[in-house]
Amino acid sequence: MGKPLIELRDVPVTRLAGVGPVKAEGLREMGIENVLDLLLHYPRRYVDRTKQATIREIVIGEEATVLGTVRRVESRRTRQKRSMVTLDLSDDTGYLKCTFFNQPWREKQLPAGTEIVVFGKVDLFQGRKQMTNPVVDRIGGDRTGRVIPIYPQSEKARINTFDFGEWIAESLRRAAPIEDAVPGHVLDALDLVDRDAAMHGIHRPDSIEERDVARARLVFDELLRIQLVLVRRKREYERTSLGIRHEVGGELVRAFIDGLPFPLTKAQARAIREIEADLAKPVPMHRLLQGDVGSGKTLVAVASMLTAVQGGHQGALMAPTEVLAEQHGMGIRALLEGFTVPAGEGSLFDDRSLSVALLTNRTTPKERQRILDGLASGDIDIAIGTHALIQDKVAFKSLGVVVIDEQHRFGVEQRAALRSKGEAVPDVLVMTATPIPRTAAMTVYGDLDVSVLDELPPGRTPIKTVWARGPLAETEAWQRVRDEVAAGHQAYVVCPLIDESEKVEVASAQETFDELSAGELHGLRLGLLHGRVKAADKESTMHAFRTGELDVLVATTVIEVGVDVPNATVMVIIDADRFGIAQLHQLRGRVGRGAAVSYCYLLGAGATSDGERRLLAIEGSTDGFALAEEDLDIRGEGTLMDVRQKGRSDLRLASLRRDRAVVEQARAVAFELVDGGLERYPALLAEIDALLPEGDDAEETATEFLFKS
Ligand code: ADP
Ligand code: MG
Repeated sequence: MGKPLIELRDVPVTRLAGVGPVKAEGLREMGIENVLDLLLHYPRRYVDRTKQATIREIVIGEEATVLGTVRRVESRRTRQKRSMVTLDLSDDTGYLKCTFFNQPWREKQLPAGTEIVVFGKVDLFQGRKQMTNPVVDRIGGDRTGRVIPIYPQSEKARINTFDFGEWIAESLRRAAPIEDAVPGHVLDALDLVDRDAAMHGIHRPDSIEERDVARARLVFDELLRIQLVLVRRKREYERTSLGIRHEVGGELVRAFIDGLPFPLTKAQARAIREIEADLAKPVPMHRLLQGDVGSGKTLVAVASMLTAVQGGHQGALMAPTEVLAEQHGMGIRALLEGFTVPAGEGSLFDDRSLSVALLTNRTTPKERQRILDGLASGDIDIAIGTHALIQDKVAFKSLGVVVIDEQHRFGVEQRAALRSKGEAVPDVLVMTATPIPRTAAMTVYGDLDVSVLDELPPGRTPIKTVWARGPLAETEAWQRVRDEVAAGHQAYVVCPLIDESEKVEVASAQETFDELSAGELHGLRLGLLHGRVKAADKESTMHAFRTGELDVLVATTVIEVGVDVPNATVMVIIDADRFGIAQLHQLRGRVGRGAAVSYCYLLGAGATSDGERRLLAIEGSTDGFALAEEDLDIRGEGTLMDVRQKGRSDLRLASLRRDRAVVEQARAVAFELVDGGLERYPALLAEIDALLPEGDDAEETATEFLFKS
């Protein structure tokens, strides 16, 4: 038996030959303190000696990777006083000249005799092949293998990839064989190599194929650990929480659904069925409702809360912002107008009318007290507000169903707050309008069950989206705004997203407003909304737009949440390439809410290739789920990098994009292991507790990634 991986955490790097105080400090700055950290410091790429182009083969004008030895280095200054280091690199077939501008340290770093790999575009200079400012990796040492790992290295700490190679080789030798924490039957079923082989294969492969096999195993490990944590949390929650066994199929819900002016979509009916099945169980529901903008999530939420109310409990709906809470308040009050609550068998009282309360930070103290009393006594059946509803000391008589309409994530903390509200834990439905790919959902919301509204109510006219490239197309966009307004409709203009500061953004919004008022939209009635508009003014502008006193609402992304004006039929998004796909999709969802054909114009050049891909994606599809997949594809490698840069996450090799299939496998295995008793695998248990302590797991990192625009 060898050592379990996590025990290597107790071995400081200073125990390795060649790691003295200075190197140890350098490593510490890179987040590497012990042998485990070191072994999890994976190469960022590999050079396959047999596959490198020789200098003779490389083609002018194309990018190439070349491996060779430095023959001669020279440093001087150009006439513009820039530092310039040139070196001659040779392999068996010829010489390549490399020129570095403004990198004076290269002279010392790459003395003659150093073996290096350079990557860059080959050009021709004075009849010779040359690369300018190529990417350089020193390989050095006596590593003669066919495949050379290149490690993320630190120029500052003077630790190069060769050092890492040495230290890791020693670590592997001394730790061998590394014990496998994952049960053998799982590895057999998935045809994965054991962990010792994987560690060797990722660090010291003899071929790229061996590296791939190793990577597959280590990716599985990372994803399995996350899924084990999530699945365990889910089962734990189910096991330890005493929920309410709601009566489903009651009169109130039926009356509500029958009273709607339209039938439910198939997806809505299915979601309601799934939710009712949860509500009927003694275990608290913990479900995510995913549905695109306009897919009708509100009705599903209301039906769920009514099930609670029917049985004498209460419902609460929490929105991410005050504006959205107010909007939900208005909408839900209108939906529930005239409904009564059964008084209960044998009651002396008559049925009373169903009461919905809106609690925000604009509620007056007196009104607030009345609502708090009503919630405590049970006179109020449904409360609508922001997350403050559960965070403050609001006491409910019997909170039965909580709906969270989220912009961002409803975290573990808030969930804990809910559990401490009373003996019986309320059922929780989390709604999100940001469709996320299935496998990402499994990671971000891995401890929830999922219902999907993958269907829009019928009769929606799809939004025509046009990427207006160039002045001519832009003129057309503004003409469309004027035409729609002339036809009695309304429009949104979304101002550019500014990174620097809110102040700059406000200034830019004002400028856009002034320019449009004087120019393209002269003569129309324009309103302006941005983050610095006072609440009262905001409300009056919104009111004016809702009632049609304004034709055009010029706004920063504040309109992303909380505007529902079916008469608005056109949106122009300025500098659209600055926005993320999810955000553009959300914004666009503000039009196309009525029966008339709607338009969305994307202005902007698509300055980067990603920007261009985003705009093409939005132009090409209105399906939020398809767009979410595309988004993950575009940001794909970013996923990996973002997560990795966090340093504290366990997701080093795995990518939610590339490794979609593995996420599903890992989840299935996690259920099997947790349900079969995780305590049978103490090594695995110890590993997840060590590598993924609660509250510091990849779930959070993945969440940040997905919701950041
Ligand atoms: P979401 O919250 O998912 O963005 P909403 O619940 O706000 O969507 O619903 C959007 C609009 O669609 C609302 O005006 C609602 O009345 C309407 N709606 C919801 N369900 C249906 C349906 N089954 N048939 C027709 N219209 C519907
Ligand atoms: Mg909604």
